[in-house]
Amino acid sequence: MNKKLIVADQIVCGFAADGSPEIANDAAILVDCGRIVAIGDRNDLSQVNRDVQIVGGHGRVAIPGLINGHHHVGLTPFQLGARDQPLELWFPERLAMRDVDPRLDTLFSAFEMIASGVTTVQHLQSRAPGDSEAVLQRSNAIINAYAEVGMRASYSFALRDQNRMIYDADEVFVAALPQALRAPTAAYLAGFGLPLAEQIAVFHRLQEHWCDNDLIGIQIAPSNLHWLSDYALESAAQMASETGAPLHMHLLETPYQKEYAFRRTGGSALEHVDRFGLVGPQLTIGHGVWMTNEDLSLLAERGACLCHNCSSNLRLKSGVADLNAFIASGVPVALGIDEAGINDDRDMLQEMRLALSLHRAAGHGAPSPSASQILRMATEHGAATTPFAGRIGRLAPGLSADVVLLDWDAVTRPWQDPSMPLVDVLLRRAKTGAVETVIVAGETVYHEGHFPRVDRESVFEDISRALNRPDTEAEASLKRLAKNLIEPVRDFYRDWL
Ligand SMILES: [Zn+2]
Repeated sequence: MNKKLIVADQIVCGFAADGSPEIANDAAILVDCGRIVAIGDRNDLSQVNRDVQIVGGHGRVAIPGLINGHHHVGLTPFQLGARDQPLELWFPERLAMRDVDPRLDTLFSAFEMIASGVTTVQHLQSRAPGDSEAVLQRSNAIINAYAEVGMRASYSFALRDQNRMIYDADEVFVAALPQALRAPTAAYLAGFGLPLAEQIAVFHRLQEHWCDNDLIGIQIAPSNLHWLSDYALESAAQMASETGAPLHMHLLETPYQKEYAFRRTGGSALEHVDRFGLVGPQLTIGHGVWMTNEDLSLLAERGACLCHNCSSNLRLKSGVADLNAFIASGVPVALGIDEAGINDDRDMLQEMRLALSLHRAAGHGAPSPSASQILRMATEHGAATTPFAGRIGRLAPGLSADVVLLDWDAVTRPWQDPSMPLVDVLLRRAKTGAVETVIVAGETVYHEGHFPRVDRESVFEDISRALNRPDTEAEASLKRLAKNLIEPVRDFYRDWL
């Protein structure tokens, strides 16, 4: 039987044009073959669907599955030995990270995301060493892990053809290093030197391979202005116009990136990217911390999206994005946890709460985001940045049944004044312990702390076993290299700001 009825005291279906939440009371969602067929009165729908499996019930609140709009890796860099650093210093710092099996790595963060109500992840694969077969193998292992746990995933392998360590050519960086560091650094960088044409071929092969899987989408990730030559920007625009795939591009994450854009183009990074036709409805800008009001107007005019990465901007000292200006511009803004949140995990409920709280600007009349605006970022607007746009992010007939059921007693115990609006209570008080059931395309992928498809404990044991050993010789030498490269990288930017 493919039908089921998801029952709740309240169902937050989405948001009206004025931004107010659309909430159905004492309602149920009729699901057939993974799609929502109807949302209506709980009694009416149960009477005409008597033999249908019931999920949820009294004391539950249903919301659309949350969307982590910007994600990269499983175990966090911090867990794997890389300290938080300002972004530019974090690039060398990350050489210290231990290598983890991609399936175990992906499942680790998928567990965290799902347990906090995330049904869709925007997985941006930043780095994968080796030739195109190695990159494809790693990409498929990651995507397979999402398929294994039942999560919806938009995957991209980042395009990058220059400036792999600093905002200048690899050769310039290597030549400026002390003699002893040159060979190991050049060897490390060469491992990530897959030619652009082959990176593009990886995208096409992944699209072809996964095109029949409704839960997997492949998109384009032009990594960031400094990592891309003008030729690569042109190629990304061509890929987008040929395939219609969405694009997700890091841009203006730090003040150094703003300065880099000025030095390279004489103007704004976004204006430069726009010259190649990249700025349009298919594009999402990740971070955008250092965008000007003119940049925001351009994004709005072109119908592009933004993704706000609140925790990451704090942890990597990138600055505090002006979320209120983002929202006021009318550009749809998604929410992404990026590498990891402030608890070094992927808790989307907490990320929403952080965004809700961090942007409460001083002054009685100063703007601050509402709970509804934040939830809309993590649902409808996040959806708009994925290949699943128009199919997820809201609960409505015809859309996919990606639903989170919260145990409302666990949210409000022992008491919550009922005058507080539902979405405000959800944003302010809901913790992962209140996430009872997570449903992706009609299938339960998480219920009362358990993942029906994968045994979390055995994955944890495998991770622990794989990592609980001394560093390999290769890891130990990369750790030493990481330490030695920090100061040369810092030196490069010394007069930049
Ligand atoms: Zn990122």
